[in-house]
Amino acid sequence: MIPIADAHIHIGKFREKYFKPDTIAKELIRMRVENWLVSSTTGVTGKWEKAEEEIQCMLDAAPYKSLPLLWLTPGMVERSFDLSLYFRRIDYVGLKIHGFGNNWPPYGKKLRQIFHVAKERKLVIMLHTGGCDRCDACVYEKIIAEFPMVTVILAHGRPLDQTIHLLAKYERTFADTAFMPTDHLAKIAKANLLHKIVFGSDYPIISCFRHKIPLKNLYISNVKSIQRYIDTSSEKFMSILKGSI
Ligand SMILES: [Zn+2]
Repeated sequence: MIPIADAHIHIGKFREKYFKPDTIAKELIRMRVENWLVSSTTGVTGKWEKAEEEIQCMLDAAPYKSLPLLWLTPGMVERSFDLSLYFRRIDYVGLKIHGFGNNWPPYGKKLRQIFHVAKERKLVIMLHTGGCDRCDACVYEKIIAEFPMVTVILAHGRPLDQTIHLLAKYERTFADTAFMPTDHLAKIAKANLLHKIVFGSDYPIISCFRHKIPLKNLYISNVKSIQRYIDTSSEKFMSILKGSI
């Protein structure tokens, strides 16, 4: 099996389900995932202390493999404008912004502050894209253009044409494959931009949508279909994160 690094892993509370951090860590290790970026979906409600506990549990279970992202809400930025409150216990490698689950004006004061902190602390920013106009990829062009040296991962890469536009234009902007149809990868290949794509699975959230297939089989078949297009190795992944870890 070819090595895997996964840019899009979740733990914590998601709808009626709860994904235990140590269980998820064990499952990933069993599937030979070498490294992963992880955020806690518990964070969507702003319960950052609970989310922090979960991230710590994940780090304890797989200390060198887990690369934690801090799920931010606008309220958390109000509480600690320089975000220092959230970095006391955990050395996050990046920030997760979910413009669908939380209301982030795409060029608002708080999001600009986040990019500023990311630049100072050399953090990756993962932006959820798609689902509604206010979080489509292109709404973030202005902020990306203002901070071209901040590494951005457009989670899901939606809509595709806007994602291709940003990937082509901004050197430090990437996209992950979470819930991305494979024909989108074919189009990205045509645009010669596959080097800007990282494997991301949205594990174990995928189980909430495609629950009839055992999760491990779903994951492995997802990896295999993506590996036809891109390098899923840890080396490529780490080179993208360089400076953040
Ligand atoms: Zn996700």
